Amino acid sequence: MATLDHFKSKYPQLFGDRLISFECGKGWNDLIERTFEKIKDSGTKIVQLKEKFGGLRIYADNCHEKVSEILKNTEAESFKTCESCGTKEKVKTEGRWLKTLCPTCRAKEHWWLEEEELRIDVINWVKDKKPVFELAPQEKVNALDKYVDRILEVLGHPEALVTDESTIWDFLALEPERLKEISEKLGVKVETGDYLIDVAASMKLKGL
Ligand SMILES: [Zn+2]
Repeated sequence: MATLDHFKSKYPQLFGDRLISFECGKGWNDLIERTFEKIKDSGTKIVQLKEKFGGLRIYADNCHEKVSEILKNTEAESFKTCESCGTKEKVKTEGRWLKTLCPTCRAKEHWWLEEEELRIDVINWVKDKKPVFELAPQEKVNALDKYVDRILEVLGHPEALVTDESTIWDFLALEPERLKEISEKLGVKVETGDYLIDVAASMKLKGL
């Protein structure tokens, strides 16, 4: 959670009596801090700060053009920043509820999913307020199936259904400590968030 107390005491001039809500993941704290630093003497008052459709939205009163521009840039940067940990590595905005996260934090968000669901990669969105699941494409997986099968064997999930969107992390979210062992067994260095098809392609390239 972004710490309202911290920002209120550091930038009291930005807060009036019309604050509705102030809530987002702590990964955006630094971004908020840099934004407030830029607008602190503008006379603007923060009305609401929240995550919306995966981005950081800041609504403000007495917001002239220059401030609007800064807030727009802040929102754009939030889409490149993990809301949970603040990293800018491999950050994506996706998921059943659009969230901007890095692969590691996204895997943590998926703890509530059954292990079985973690093995199946789905593109999902919400239609008529109900989640919709659809299998991602499998063209690249099929083209590299020999290597993909070996990766699944090493991961200990030979039966798993994989797609072009499947990542190593989908399988190791419950046991991240195996990453090094997996890399050694495959002969290529595997990172969290790597796509299975990319790992398969580099194995092919190395002639493994
Ligand atoms: Zn993260």
